[in-house]
Amino acid sequence: MKTTRNHIVSITKVHSSIQDSVEQAIDLAGGMEPLIRQGDEVYLKPNFVAPRGASQGVTTDLEIVRVVAEQVRSCGGTPILFETPAIEFDRDKVYDALDIWNFAKQNNIALASNNSEFIKIAIPQGKAFKSVKIPKVLHQAKIINLPKLKTHVSAKMTCAMKNLIGLLPASEKRNVHIFGLHGPIADICKVFRPIFTVVDATTCMEGDGPTYGDAVDLGLILAGTDMLSVDKICSKIIGIPWQSIGYLRKADHAQDNPSIKVLGQSPSSVGTHFRVPEKGRFFHFSFWLINVLDVLFSKFYRGHLNQFLYRTGYVGTNPRILRDKCNACGDCIKVCPVPTALNIDSYKVNYKECIRCLNCYQVCPKDAIAVKGISRPAKPRAHSFC
Ligand code: SF4
Ligand code: SF4
Repeated sequence: MKTTRNHIVSITKVHSSIQDSVEQAIDLAGGMEPLIRQGDEVYLKPNFVAPRGASQGVTTDLEIVRVVAEQVRSCGGTPILFETPAIEFDRDKVYDALDIWNFAKQNNIALASNNSEFIKIAIPQGKAFKSVKIPKVLHQAKIINLPKLKTHVSAKMTCAMKNLIGLLPASEKRNVHIFGLHGPIADICKVFRPIFTVVDATTCMEGDGPTYGDAVDLGLILAGTDMLSVDKICSKIIGIPWQSIGYLRKADHAQDNPSIKVLGQSPSSVGTHFRVPEKGRFFHFSFWLINVLDVLFSKFYRGHLNQFLYRTGYVGTNPRILRDKCNACGDCIKVCPVPTALNIDSYKVNYKECIRCLNCYQVCPKDAIAVKGISRPAKPRAHSFC
């Protein structure tokens, strides 16, 4: 994680358009021209962790991906989008729900294949991981990191460094969780070294992130070349001391005491306090155990144990129709990416088909959809700055 273009982190506010703010943030952080050569393939790594939209505070705003892809092209590079969701979600269904296929086509952005060839890479300085399996195309590739700023039930915060876990195959994502999360994240960041990071801190997430927390409108874009510096400033903005985030502490020990120069807005003027996730030991143990058991499960069955459990409808965050409140308006079906998942006549949700996007919950005018499970996101709200 040693840096060359020293630890500049830019912060811009979104006023007139996301495009203006992204371009301004990139310029303040030194621009992309020195980093991209004519003919370079440049992999864009947004956060598409789940089939839930940017306005719900979950995934990277596609406008940011578009503007960055445009900048890559203007430097002579070819933008290629590479992202896989959390293990419990299917990539193609997530892309369907977020309309990524059309987005990529309309904006002339190539999509990396879901069936990559993998290679094992040694991590000489690795503490938790001595080696890791990665997609072959990403070995020493130029990557631009496009994370979403959120709190995280296991890692406390997810932003630049944590976002890179989405580049790994499912088996390695599982190992990251089995082997303590923070150490593996710090190690993975020795393998992938994005040339630039642009953070979507427009609509963020607090509470039970990264998927089912509450949306918070911050209206910010951050940019920089050093992930640790970017993450430290992001943690400051959301009121979480970086020293309390394990993977930042570990990465910081591996660096030689960087000082960070912030350009644009100051973190204290745009900062606030995000509600941190409060999960007990039982939650963390259960999550860990499911990943451990999945090592066996996935050997004998197609798919993963958490996918199997969520499809039963008894485990995880799922919608439920409240018969007493529903007036059969059909609004939920119009926004459901898998309309056959909802049956208004019988007030039933087909959990085998439901992809747990919670669009139905967000849109129901009668509050007739309740959310089962440990996490229950609130409808988006504005957050006041300190
Ligand atoms: S949107 Fe709500 S009220 Fe309308 S059909 Fe669906 S559950 Fe019933
Ligand atoms: S039933 Fe609700 S949560 Fe499930 S896929 Fe449809 S809209 Fe999404």
